[in-house]
Amino acid sequence: MITVTKDSLATAEATCSCGHDFKSVWISPRAHHKPVKFWYAIFWGVSGGKPDKIEWVCRVCKEVVATSTDPEHLLYFRHQ
Ligand SMILES: [Zn+2]
Repeated sequence: MITVTKDSLATAEATCSCGHDFKSVWISPRAHHKPVKFWYAIFWGVSGGKPDKIEWVCRVCKEVVATSTDPEHLLYFRHQ
């Protein structure tokens, strides 16, 4: 597993256990949210609730190939 930023995403290379490349259609980004308390969700829910990190996951072997905590990625992929 690798960590990427907005600058390294385009050139990053990583492969999961079943051999899919980071750029493969089988690898999908998903937003990862920390579990939050109910009141906290209400309070921050209004502003959209920015995720904690973005993970690129292989849909075949479920392996996390890459993660990002880059603020631009958090905004861009927050609804994934
Ligand atoms: Zn895989």
